[in-house]
This record gives sequence, C-alpha cells and structure tokens, in this order.
Amino acid sequence: MTEPYDAIVIGGGPAGMMAAIEMAERGLRVLIAERNKLLGRKLRITGKGRCNITNNCDFDTLIQNICQGGKFMYSSLRRFSNQDVIDFFETHGLETVTERGGRVFPASQKAYDVAELFANVIRALKIPVLYECRVQKLLLNEDTPGCIMGVSAIVCGKMRKIPCKNVVLATGGITYPLTGSTGDGYALAKQVGHTIVPPKPSLVALKCREKATCAALEGLSLKNVSLRLEKGEKRLYEDFGEMVFTDTGVSGPLVLSASRHVTDDSVYKIHIDLKPGLSRQQLDTRILSDFSKYEKKDFVNALDDLLPKRMIEAIVSRSGIPARQKVSCITREQRMKLVDILKDFTLTPYEPASIDQAIVTAGGISLSEVEPKSMRSKLCPNLYFAGEVLDVDAYTGGYNLTIAFSTGFTAGNFVEG
Ligand SMILES: Cc1cc2nc3c(=O)[nH]c(=O)nc-3n(C[C@H](O)[C@H](O)[C@H](O)COP(=O)(O)OP(=O)(O)OC[C@H]3O[C@@H](n4cnc5c(N)ncnc54)[C@H](O)[C@@H]3O)c2cc1C
Repeated sequence: MTEPYDAIVIGGGPAGMMAAIEMAERGLRVLIAERNKLLGRKLRITGKGRCNITNNCDFDTLIQNICQGGKFMYSSLRRFSNQDVIDFFETHGLETVTERGGRVFPASQKAYDVAELFANVIRALKIPVLYECRVQKLLLNEDTPGCIMGVSAIVCGKMRKIPCKNVVLATGGITYPLTGSTGDGYALAKQVGHTIVPPKPSLVALKCREKATCAALEGLSLKNVSLRLEKGEKRLYEDFGEMVFTDTGVSGPLVLSASRHVTDDSVYKIHIDLKPGLSRQQLDTRILSDFSKYEKKDFVNALDDLLPKRMIEAIVSRSGIPARQKVSCITREQRMKLVDILKDFTLTPYEPASIDQAIVTAGGISLSEVEPKSMRSKLCPNLYFAGEVLDVDAYTGGYNLTIAFSTGFTAGNFVEG
C-alpha cells in the first residue's frame, strides 16, 4: 500500500472543498474523492445560477435562521462565520455584493465563478482530486477498533482501496440527485454506528389544494408581499419578500422557507398579504381613489393600478363582486370584502414537492454523535463531517452554504496528520 493520505475528503462540494483547502493550508496531505467529473456541481446551480454565498447579517440572526442545529452550529460559526466567508472570497479575488435581506452574491452574479475559484485554489494548493470516484465503504482498522484506515471506491469503473489517516465525510444530502448528492454519506456513516435522522425535503415548493387558481397564475412572481404559514391557530412562519405561483401550488424564497414547517399531514394555511405596506384603512383609501379614477368602468377593469394584471381575475373571483359590476355601484361592504382578500389571500398547502426537487435535505447524521467544536465523530476518532450530510438545515438567504463553508473549515481545522 502507498503512504496513506493524512485525510481523504469524500465529496467535492462546498463543504468538502473548504475542508480540503484548510487542511492543505495547514500542510496536510489531502485527497478529494469526487464521484462527478467536476467539483462543486450543485454549487454551480445555486441561487438560480447566481450563488447566494452567505448572508451579511449579525451573529444572532445567523443562528436564528438555522431551522435545525442552530445551537450545534454556534461553535463552528464562531470559528468561521458569514463574515469569514465574505473575507475568504474577497481575499481570493472574488468581489461580492450584498443585496436585499443581506443576501451576498458574487459581483459577477455567476455561481460558476464561485465554483471555479475553489477549483483554482485547489489546483494552486496542489490538492489531488480523484474524479469519477464513488466511495462505497470505509475500511476499518482491525488493530484499532472503530478507527478508519482507508476507503474503498469505484474509480472510473474500477474498485480501488485508498489508505488514509482521517476521513472527512462531505457527501451532501439527497436533493437534486443528478448533482451527485444521493445520500451515500448516510450509509457510510452507518457503517461505524452513526444514527441517521430520516431525511426529508426542506426548502421546497408546496402543492396547494387551489390547483386551478395556482395553475392560472403559474409563473407570476409577487414581490414585496408578506406570507404567513399557520397550522390551526399556530403561526409557524411569517416573513416579507418574494414568492411565485407554480402549476401545482407556490414556490419562491418565502414559500421555500415556510415549507420547512410543513412536516406532517395536518391542515396548513398560507395567508398572503398582497399589500403589507398599507393598513386596512390606508388600503381602503387607496381603493377609493382608484375607484373614483375608474368610476365609469366595470369592476374587473378598475384594478390595473392595484394589482399585477394576471392576478386580477383571481381577486375578482374571490371578492364575490361581479366582474361586470360598475365601480360606481360597489358598496362599502363589497369594498371591505375586497380589502379582506387583498390583505389575506389564502391558500391550502397539502404536500411538499418531492425531495428530488428540494433545495436542502432536513435530517442527516444525528448531531448528538458529533462534536460541535471540531465536527469530529464521537463514535470514530478519525472521522469528521461537514455540510449538508449533517442534520442541520436553514432558511433561504445564503445560510445553507454558510453552514457548508463553516463546518468544512472547522473539520479541516481539527483534522490531525
Ligand atoms: C437548486 C439549488 C439552489 C441552491 N441555492 C443556494 C443558495 O443560493 N445559497 C445557499 O446557501 N444554499 C443554496 N442551496 C443549498 C446548497 O447548495 C447546499 O446546502 C450545499 O451545496 C451543501 O454543500 P455540501 O458540500 O454539503 O454538499 P453538496 O454540494 O451536495 O456536495 C456533495 C458532493 O459529494 C459528492 N458525493 C456524494 N456521494 C459521494 C461518494 N460516495 N463518493 C464521492 N463523492 C460523493 C457529490 O457528487 C457532491 O459533489 C441550493 C441548493 C439547490 C439544489
């Protein structure tokens, strides 16, 4: 057998690449094993091709935006925070811009540039990458029970055993499987006794019972609306921003984040405030002003200033006011109904879209078996975890990549040669 690597990183996504870079910078001999023909395949499609690399928020907000594992992430984020993510990119020559909601993107607006930056740093540090290498098994040391002495993998169709002193498992979750994230890490971790919290879709479109309404509005994006998700009387999520209708329901940043809370078969309700900047009184005044401008028109033709054109039919139909009723004949009671609909356009989500289409996997390696300070397994002293393979997930806004970068750096920082 050849001289073992100090570490093999399984998975060349953002978490694995960051871990490898940190280890190489500390002088360790590292190998990245990646099943694809290129690094960071999922990274290249993030943020609709723009890659929302992190969020420029304060530490508390960062933690609050982590739906599962916020406490676990505390130490790692103290070691490598969102500000460190920005510094990392800037010092490696990638300019960043901060947009609405603190979302940080590359100034070039290209996820490709983010992935290529990593590939270039990895090349510059002379970190070997074994492409088309799908790790299938951890090889355990019979002399030191519970310790890993290498991995076995199918490399370009051939079985190979690669010796190493440590493993960083950074295989991602099970969403968008065509990018290479098919949940292999769960089976590998199970091999040394780790518990897997069952994976579920998170940050995913929601199918709604009002199928005809949604299908008619498919592709319509609503900006600056507020969305509230409720289960019975309980308010589960509320925020302000953007959403989009799909052929079967709703999606877009607000919905993706809300979807994290649709976890069972209970009855959920989405309440959309189409005019969150106006109180009911102010909205009524605004409608009155439009109605006086369009007093000779039919109701259906009097809403152009108030709503996107495609939304008008749905609102008219829900208001109960006949489309062809003259505006001058609309009663106060009817107007109040219109205000109700605009302030509370409700939908009934019944099911998340399939896990294949989810942005992130909720669930993964149980955090109780991982040291938060170092990302080291509590069951296997030379196994470390990084990224989405862990049972950590966050809302949209750059938080999930922040988790990947931070845990990758932390694992890489603690591995010993
Ligand atoms: C469409 C989309 C858009 C997104 N946009 C954003 C965004 O803008 N901002 C944000 O913060 N988050 C975003 N995310 C989430 C983010 O991409 C993930 O959280 C992040 O990529 C996780 O990084 P990772 O390194 O843990 O896993 P991955 O990126 O999934 O990487 C895992 C790697 O491991 C490799 N691998 C798996 N199994 C094996 C094996 N057995 N052997 C060898 N290699 C293996 C895979 O091929 C893959 O390259 C988005 C996700 C999607 C799907």
